Amino acid sequence: MTTHHLDTKLLHIGSAPFDPETGTAPVNLPSMRTSTVRFENLAALERVFAKRAAGERAISYGRSGMDTHRALEEVFMQLEGGTYCVLAPSGMAAINIAFLGILKTGDHVLVCDGVYGPVRNLDRALLKGLGITVTYFAAQDDLDALITPETKMIYVESPGSLLFEMLDLPAMAAIAKRHGVLLAADNTWGSGYIYRPLALGADISVVAGTKYVAGHSDVMLGAVVAKDESVAARLHSAQYAMGNSISADDAWLALRGVKTMAVRMPQHAINALKVCAFFDAQPYVAKIFNPAWHKDAGYALWQRDCTGANGMLSVELKCSPDAAKAYVDALTLFGIGFSWGGYESLVQWVDPSTLAAHSYWKHSPNALLRFHIGLEDVDDLINDLKQAALHLPRT
Ligand SMILES: *Cc1c(COP(=O)(O)O)cnc(C)c1O
Repeated sequence: MTTHHLDTKLLHIGSAPFDPETGTAPVNLPSMRTSTVRFENLAALERVFAKRAAGERAISYGRSGMDTHRALEEVFMQLEGGTYCVLAPSGMAAINIAFLGILKTGDHVLVCDGVYGPVRNLDRALLKGLGITVTYFAAQDDLDALITPETKMIYVESPGSLLFEMLDLPAMAAIAKRHGVLLAADNTWGSGYIYRPLALGADISVVAGTKYVAGHSDVMLGAVVAKDESVAARLHSAQYAMGNSISADDAWLALRGVKTMAVRMPQHAINALKVCAFFDAQPYVAKIFNPAWHKDAGYALWQRDCTGANGMLSVELKCSPDAAKAYVDALTLFGIGFSWGGYESLVQWVDPSTLAAHSYWKHSPNALLRFHIGLEDVDDLINDLKQAALHLPRT
């Protein structure tokens, strides 16, 4: 198994074991719904607790997950190239585990200013009250100068989820290592399939499995993956203390979703690049944001650090945010909504106030639209974009 390619491993993780009597098995593990575990006798219970005391994962109660969950943990470990995985009931819950597992009162954390918006809310709602201070930094800032004796973690998202700016993760990992600070990355964009922060030097990778891993817009799920045992122990301890539990059905849906990742992801990327080429030829487009697009400022880093791309891109239009609203409303194949990574196309009208804190945006007064390019026929998508453009001001 270890010598096989990732695509092969993703298909075979979670194969159901054969029944020793009949020699048959279903293809997949079933969704193992249970709240608790029955032990055959007290000796069996003691064996399980001895395993747990030795640091092994042994199932003793529903909250810590059953075989369905174990298989999904294995999926995330294979994707991210890590040796430890903690599942979470959403991507945001996974982010909480990373922050609260690593940081305590008095600690300082550096966060990139293009970070997923709700992380700023986590800062306001919880971290501040706990006495954990956050400094937001721009990609070009000198991290060495921002690190204080209290700094315990650098938390980044690369590419960022509104403008997809690539960060130089290996360079940041070198700085973090020099100062004895942990580097954590939100890898929802890469989902371990096209970008692997742990291989680039990060200590922790956080993934919203809600997006490309589950892949069908029907599950909320997250994972935190690490490669160091002591880091993993802190993450496990936070997860256990928080009392999160993940529905076995959701874990099962994510296991099913990941089976088609090898065909979904490249197709999203092909469609998105075709849409980039279309937008590039339109007079009403000021700029395209997608690191896999050859004119993007992050293209060289993308070529160096990524093994593929996905369906995400943003477009700056040569009009005001208000003027772009009629265009968004005129789209028929693009659902107006947040999130991404499902099979379907989405459009998000990005609120200018969200962009204000984002140094990469350069404070343009123009409209920014974020698209998730789905698996529809791309010519249909482009025709939809063409008809909607009739609703834009003339350029
Ligand atoms: C969606 C998303 C999250 C949060 O995931 P949820 O499952 O919605 O909580 C975190 N980071 C990024 C980059 C995301 O796109």
